[in-house]
Parts: sequence; structure tokens; C-alpha cells
Amino acid sequence: MPVLYQRVNGQIVWIRNPFTGAHTYFNNIQKKVFAFRGQKPMFGPLRPQPPEPQMPLISDVVRQMAQEEARCFFCPGHEEQTTAELFRVTYGEIFTLDGIPSGVTSDDWAIRVFRNLIPRIPEECTGGRNESYVIVEDARHFTVNAQSPHDLQWSGALPVRQFVALLKANVRIMHLAYANESVSSVLIRKNQGRESGASQPHIHNQVIASHAPFPDVEAEMQVTAREPHIWTECAEVFHREGWVIHADDALITCWSPFGKFPRCFDVIDLAHWGPLTAMPDDVIERFARALHQVLVLFGPYALDYEVHQGEGIPLHVHVNSRQFTYSNIGGTLNLPNDLTEKVQALRRTLRGPAL
Ligand SMILES: [Zn+2]
Ligand SMILES: [Zn+2]
Repeated sequence: MPVLYQRVNGQIVWIRNPFTGAHTYFNNIQKKVFAFRGQKPMFGPLRPQPPEPQMPLISDVVRQMAQEEARCFFCPGHEEQTTAELFRVTYGEIFTLDGIPSGVTSDDWAIRVFRNLIPRIPEECTGGRNESYVIVEDARHFTVNAQSPHDLQWSGALPVRQFVALLKANVRIMHLAYANESVSSVLIRKNQGRESGASQPHIHNQVIASHAPFPDVEAEMQVTAREPHIWTECAEVFHREGWVIHADDALITCWSPFGKFPRCFDVIDLAHWGPLTAMPDDVIERFARALHQVLVLFGPYALDYEVHQGEGIPLHVHVNSRQFTYSNIGGTLNLPNDLTEKVQALRRTLRGPAL
């Protein structure tokens, strides 16, 4: 079955997710009046706002931030509070000496990996071995020039070189998980912000391996087995509708109408199918750079992303922003009908000198 949609007066009014059957409707919800008081604007910018001019920190704020770090399980100096370390990557292994970020040294760990204290999939399901992993993405709890305890380090703020090293560390963990014969499916998951389900404020992501295929990935594999051209067809629709914000040969970054949440961006590598663990370093790096670009666009706000990979599907990631109104009614989502203009504005931003 092709990608189904209906066009009225040149504009798509609904489109069906070919993998789940969910429908997305476009209408003028941007004209709705939201009467809740004290809420954030409904359709705010997808880009972070320019930082406030830097003010000297008052001692109370400095004390609060030190307290946050003192009770953080993931901060340097508290390594004994996590499960056993599997490996670490130092800043010196990622950066040249003159490129070491401020506040750290080349010998400090930048990335640190251990098992999740509470596995996402019970270990009884995966041969008695805990196959849920935590990857701390950076040693620094707060952003450079943080002005308050709310200015947590976030993935898009990491130098792209560090983000590439991070994805490679994730792939290293995937190799470890796949060595367990009871594991059949592995994904990379990130929750940024409490609203997305993160329990620890210190920047981290997860690798989760399962005995059974993850249902979302399984659905993609099943539909793709029946309709091998479905991904190319989706990409053609995205291109035609102006939803692609960046394309690098067969690697596309686009707003996807098939997300679980209304603002979902996908990065899809149509040239590279199969397990991430079988892909060469340059493919992993190109993919990491494209994902990092989306994280920069979404800013420090709540989001989640999930890297899907495996036999029979192209390498891809779904990035869901959580800062917009979400109301799923009977398997349908609602989106503003001027979204294409917003996506086009993002595209122009990417082409500009700012990034
Ligand atoms: Zn911390
Ligand atoms: Zn997927």
C-alpha cells in the first residue's frame, strides 16, 4: 500500500502512517485560543532563544548548583555510586589538546558507561544478564556559563566531535548486547528533560536490548518486508511537501508527519540498511552529525529520540520534541496547517551562516 493522504486545494489535509496506520490531520489549530493561564506559548520557536547576557552568579545560586552536583550519581567523583563501569572515553581521546572544552582536562572522562541499576527489560528476559545500559554523555552537570541550577548540560550543546564519539560509544555497547544470545533487538534511547521521562538530570542516554523485537521496530520491519520501497516513497512525499530540511546524498533530515508526537524530526539513511554494528565508522559519523544538527535546532527543551536499526530497515532516528501540545485522539494527531512554512524557515536557517 502506498503512502496514503488526501490533498485539498493543493494542501495535504491528512496523511496515514504506513507503519502504524495512525493518521495525522492538518488544520488551523494555530488559531485556537488556549485559555490556560501561566503556560508557555503553544507554538514557540523550534530554535533555542539567544542566551541572556551573562550576569555574575550570586552566591546563593552557586551554592545551589554545588548541592545539585554533590547529590548527583553521575557527576565525576561519584563513580562508586553507579554500577560497575564498563568503559570510559576521556576528553583527550576525543579532542586535540588545544580543543579540550573549558572546565575539564584531557585526562578527565567525557563519556562513561555502566549498566542501569534498574533494567528496562527485566534481566530474566535476557538470559539473566542486565542488558540496559547508561551512557553519561559529558562529565559536566551544567552548561558552560550556566546562570541557574536549571541550565543543565544538553546534547545539542556538546561539541559535534563529542557527539560523534558518543554515538560510537553507543555502538560499542550494542556489540556487547548482541553478544548475548538471548538478545534479538537493540535500540538507543534518549530522554532529555523531566517531561520526557528522564529520572536523572545529568546528561545521559541509554542502550536497551530486548529478547523480543521492540514492537515499533518490528512493525517497520514487517511493513518494509512487504513493501521494500516504502522508505523511498516516504522520502519522496517529504521532499515534495517541503518537509526535508537537509539532504546529504541519501541521508535526509525531515519533519515527519508519522511521529508519535506532533513535532517529530527523522534522520533516515536510505543508503545504509541493517544493523548499526555492521556499519563503517564514516557512516556512523555522518549519521551522528545529522542527529546532532536536529538536537541543536530543538534546543535544551524536553525531547526524546530513539535510534532504530536492524535487519531489513534503513538506519534512522525519530526525535520528538515535547514542548508542543499533545493530544492523540483514537490514533490521530492534529497539526497546524502552516507547518510546512515553519519547516521551510528552519531549512533556510540551516543554510544560513548561523550553523
Ligand atoms: Zn551530575
Ligand atoms: Zn523507526
